[in-house]
Amino acid sequence: MVLPFKHEPFTDFNVDSNRRDFEEALALVKEHLGKEYPIVINGEKIFTEDKLISTNPADKEQLIGKVSKATKQHVDQAMDAALEAFKTWRKWTAAERADLLFRTAAIIRRRKHEFSAWLVYDAGKPWDQADGDIAEGIDFLEYYGRQMLELGQGKVLNDRANEHNAYFYQPMGPGVVIPPWNFAFAIVCGTTIAPVVAGNPVLLKPSENTPVIAYKLIEVLEEAGLPKGVVNFIPGDPEEIGDYLVDHKETRFINFTGSRATGTRIYERAAKVYEGQQSLKRVIAEMGGKDTIIVDNDADLNLAAEAIVHSSFGFSGQKCSACSRAVIHQDVYDDVLEKVVVLTKQLTVGNPANANVYMGAVVNKKQFEKIRDYIAIGKEEGVLVHGGETDDTNGYFVSPTIFKDLDPQARIMQEEIFGPIVAFTKAADFDEMLEIANNTDYGLTGAVISNNRAHLNRARYDFNVGNLYFNRGCTAAIVGYQPFGGFKMSGTDSKAGGPDYLQHFLEAKVVSESF
Ligand code: NAD
Repeated sequence: MVLPFKHEPFTDFNVDSNRRDFEEALALVKEHLGKEYPIVINGEKIFTEDKLISTNPADKEQLIGKVSKATKQHVDQAMDAALEAFKTWRKWTAAERADLLFRTAAIIRRRKHEFSAWLVYDAGKPWDQADGDIAEGIDFLEYYGRQMLELGQGKVLNDRANEHNAYFYQPMGPGVVIPPWNFAFAIVCGTTIAPVVAGNPVLLKPSENTPVIAYKLIEVLEEAGLPKGVVNFIPGDPEEIGDYLVDHKETRFINFTGSRATGTRIYERAAKVYEGQQSLKRVIAEMGGKDTIIVDNDADLNLAAEAIVHSSFGFSGQKCSACSRAVIHQDVYDDVLEKVVVLTKQLTVGNPANANVYMGAVVNKKQFEKIRDYIAIGKEEGVLVHGGETDDTNGYFVSPTIFKDLDPQARIMQEEIFGPIVAFTKAADFDEMLEIANNTDYGLTGAVISNNRAHLNRARYDFNVGNLYFNRGCTAAIVGYQPFGGFKMSGTDSKAGGPDYLQHFLEAKVVSESF
């Protein structure tokens, strides 16, 4: 028996002692920057010449770590190790595997600020965002552990006088985990330990942008007692090993989170059956978003402005759930826009390794240039109301940027930018607002700010997104509270952090005995 799931509380950085503790953690981690990290196969640490170089996005000169790159041969070795580990790991009981997750959560909780500090350096996260990322990782461990205890019991079937029927879940075999960089701890942790607690060994290929914090998870899993070969750490160039991991005939599933381009490529490749392959591959692909907040004419406009600002600019808009489209009723369009500009002017931008700022830098040069290009596009398509400045002298800084008067079909209303840019468009009534909200290929998150119950009820069914919020922003889903996953080209709707998630990594078996 375990206590019911409770989500990990966030740190209040208004409290002096919390701020001091966090500064101490930043100082502690700073002493450990610049180290070398290995590949890990079957518990063995392998250092290679060729390295991924991680630097601080807010301070390009600051080296965070050098991480060994895996080759195709390493992938083969890791797959052999995973197949071997599967023979025993699959026989651990659900309770034994769940216990390992609970131990891992306890270790991370004790060193929470230290883990958050790694995220500040490795991913450029502001303090509150780093704290939320680590809390979510802990939540995944606590939640999936409990979910496995429940699923470990199987399900009840009907019996007859001379027949007993059993329905139970068994693991599938080795799989590949491919996470993005933007929740460089939470998503790495959640997408790895879900298949693992279900009994499947994995090959984890972290993002090339944030491999150091991913390695920290490997260290803790080892400390918690995870057997060798159950999680194999295979950092590397996606061009070198990405397709190879996906195509491998022994890969049973690919647990992917990232862009639409990569996700659809994986989905397509995984459909091909290779010689010697014994099972079809399952693909979990959670992809991008183009998320909308609708503001109705009777809405609380202060709430609307706060929701838009925090959903658009939190972590510099580098969330799949970030608001990038504000669709506003014509009666309140000017008022909402003005309030959003006032709030945005109060936001602080800087290096989170030095101060508790609202926004840091964007993740890398490629992303910086992409966002700069979209700012130029926005200036042609609409009217720049605020921001638009970029500066890559020391780090990749982009100011929070607001455009108005966009055509709903404009590129900055349709394409995922993944930066601190929000575009405003005006609508005549609720029908038109819903039509605009649904007019993209994506279907991840959305929010409606309204006091009209009939409109909220309509949106419940007609606003076609996997995660819909009423009278709040469209980011900040919490494990066990808002299971997360998108519709349409946003993904396979796996609902991470929800009651059905582990089933993606399990096979249901039925045994029917006559007597
Ligand atoms: P990305 O697609 O560039 O990379 C994601 C991962 O895929 C990385 O580990 C990368 O190395 C790997 N990869 C790249 N090419 C590959 C290939 N050919 N084969 C196998 N793996 C390959 O995405 P990103 O820039 O890391 O992340 C940002 C994207 O992720 C955004 O589109 C964002 O919306 C999305 N995202 C979605 C969710 C969600 O839950 N829906 C959550 C977070 C981020």
